[in-house]
Amino acid sequence: MAKRDEILRELRLAPTWRLRTRSAVELAQSAAGAQAADVAAPAGRVVPLRPAGERLARIAALEWPVLAADIDACNACGLCRTRNRSVPGVGDPHARWLLVGEAPGAEEDARGEPFVGQAGKLLDNMLAALGVSRREGAYIANVLKCRPPGNRTPEPAEAEACRPYLERQIALIQPSLIVALGKSAATLLLGTDATIASLRGRVHSWRSTPLVVTYHPAYLLRNLPDKAKAWEDLLLARKVAVPESRASSTQ
Ligand code: URA
Repeated sequence: MAKRDEILRELRLAPTWRLRTRSAVELAQSAAGAQAADVAAPAGRVVPLRPAGERLARIAALEWPVLAADIDACNACGLCRTRNRSVPGVGDPHARWLLVGEAPGAEEDARGEPFVGQAGKLLDNMLAALGVSRREGAYIANVLKCRPPGNRTPEPAEAEACRPYLERQIALIQPSLIVALGKSAATLLLGTDATIASLRGRVHSWRSTPLVVTYHPAYLLRNLPDKAKAWEDLLLARKVAVPESRASSTQ
C-alpha cells in the first residue's frame, strides 16, 4: 500500500479519494487547515481529503467582497453546527486600529456583528475616547468567527482552524496597530500562554505590525479597578498608532 501511495504521489495523483470514516474526520479536524467541505460531510460519503495548504492558500487570496461569505460557509470545526450566524468582523477596511477579541457571545451570534452587548458598549466608549469608531479608524474582529456553546473559552484547535481568516483580515486592513483584547487573542497572536498582566504595558509585534495587549472589555466590566490599566494600555497603543504630529487632532 505504501508503495502504491508513493507511486501515486510521484505521478501527482495523490491524495486519493477515500471512504470517509470517523477517524478520517478527526484527522482532518486536527490538521486545523483541512478543506472545510471535507470535514463536515456525513459519515459514509466518499469525499476527497485535500491538503491543508490548499485551504490556507485559498483563504489567503480572498478579497473583502467574498471574505464574509466564505466565513459563513466554513465548517472547518464543529462550531458551525451550533452557531446561528457567523460573525466575521466589523469596521473600517482601512483602519489604523485593529482590535481582536475572543469569540462571539449570544447577542453577537444572533446579530452577526462582534461586540454588540455590554462589553461592546464599553469597547465603543474606549474607541470614542481615542477618536475612532467602528465606522472610521477601527476594525473589530475575533479569534473565532463562530460562538462557542455557552461562551466557553475557544479550544486551541478551533482557534487554529479560524486563524487563516484573522490573518487574511490583518493582511487586507494593514493596520498600524493591533490591540489584543484578552487572553485568547494574546495567546493566538503572540504564541504564548503568558498572563495579560505580564504582557500588557509594552509593545509586542505580530509579524511586523506593533501589537499591544490589554484586558478584555468583559473582564473590565467585572473588575472595574483594572479599567485604569486598560486606559494606560490604550494610551500606549495610541502613541504607536498615531504619530506624535497627528495625536492632537485625534483626541
Ligand atoms: N466578546 C468577544 O470577545 N467578542 C465579541 O464579539 C463579544 C464578546
